[in-house]
Amino acid sequence: MENPKVERLIIIGSGPAGLTAAIYAARGGANPLVISGRAAGGQLMLTTDVDDFPGFPEGIQGPELMQKIRKQASRFDTRFIEEDVVSVDFSQKPFVVNTESSSLKAESIIIATGASAQWLGLESEQKFIGKGVSACAVCDGFFFKGKNLIVVGGGDTAMREAQHLSKLANKVTVVHRRDSLRAQAALEELVKSKENVEFKFNTVIEEILGDQKVTGVKLKDTQTGEISQMPIDGVFVAIGHKPNTGFLKGQIDLDEKGYILVTDEIYTSVDGVFVAGDVSDHKYRQGVTAAGAGTKAALEVEDYLENLK
Ligand code: NAP
Repeated sequence: MENPKVERLIIIGSGPAGLTAAIYAARGGANPLVISGRAAGGQLMLTTDVDDFPGFPEGIQGPELMQKIRKQASRFDTRFIEEDVVSVDFSQKPFVVNTESSSLKAESIIIATGASAQWLGLESEQKFIGKGVSACAVCDGFFFKGKNLIVVGGGDTAMREAQHLSKLANKVTVVHRRDSLRAQAALEELVKSKENVEFKFNTVIEEILGDQKVTGVKLKDTQTGEISQMPIDGVFVAIGHKPNTGFLKGQIDLDEKGYILVTDEIYTSVDGVFVAGDVSDHKYRQGVTAAGAGTKAALEVEDYLENLK
């Protein structure tokens, strides 16, 4: 359904970047409309303990943090649509944003759609998603109480997954393709201190085995090439993320991995379209940096709208 109203600002995405942009933009008088997406709240909704977001000295659970930020955004002049954006047209002004049920127009846009978990790309992995293969310990860990599990990856996400699962599972084996982790030292130490977590370095999963559900994996030693089998009840893949930019193809400059190309962190190749958070940031990817980028984007929008007058 086409909506004739021209919004001053549409924010696409409702993680820390999008919602912080909403707080600032609303307080700046832009009356933002947030298209929050079906996976509203972003990656922090899939995170347990957040210990590095300033203002929470005892730490906070990811979903609770997002609830608080959303409440704060709602306190000011922000409206929400709980749908995904399916396409955009940035070749005309006002810009066009098509959601699942409506066609919206806006003078300015902030894209803050973040990134989603990456998969290994094995055929057997796709077959067993939801039947023993997962990319979210917080969502699915509960189903593996007392089981033996693998976490794949050597970054912060893998450590967080292993930490969470160690509280539920009988045993967690972290399978990493190199001989050292890239995770923060504090997280590495924390996970290594868990009695029921062990590490298999220089190892990759060749195949996930099972019939109706996962029963094991075929592993390969990356140094010797040796193949082995390991019985396992579940595999949690934690090998990084890919940007959520599928709906933008052909409308804005993206890099070869699909991240939005930016100058000065927030300007895109289209005047009036700004960006914030993990959808363009493949380096820092923190809730706090995303929130900071959301702030900058909102302040730039304020100037942009002022100059349109
Ligand atoms: P990441 O840092 O890019 O780590 C991905 C890991 O997966 C790496 O160890 C990588 O191996 C491995 N990997 C990638 N592709 C693989 C493949 N095809 N097969 C096997 N292994 C593969 O991603 P991340 O852990 O998701 O973290 C992303 C960002 O979010 C980081 O900046 C991180 O600090 C941040 N983050 C922070 C927290 C926190 O609690 N503060 C929590 C989660 C994430 P190599 O090491 O060999 O490349």
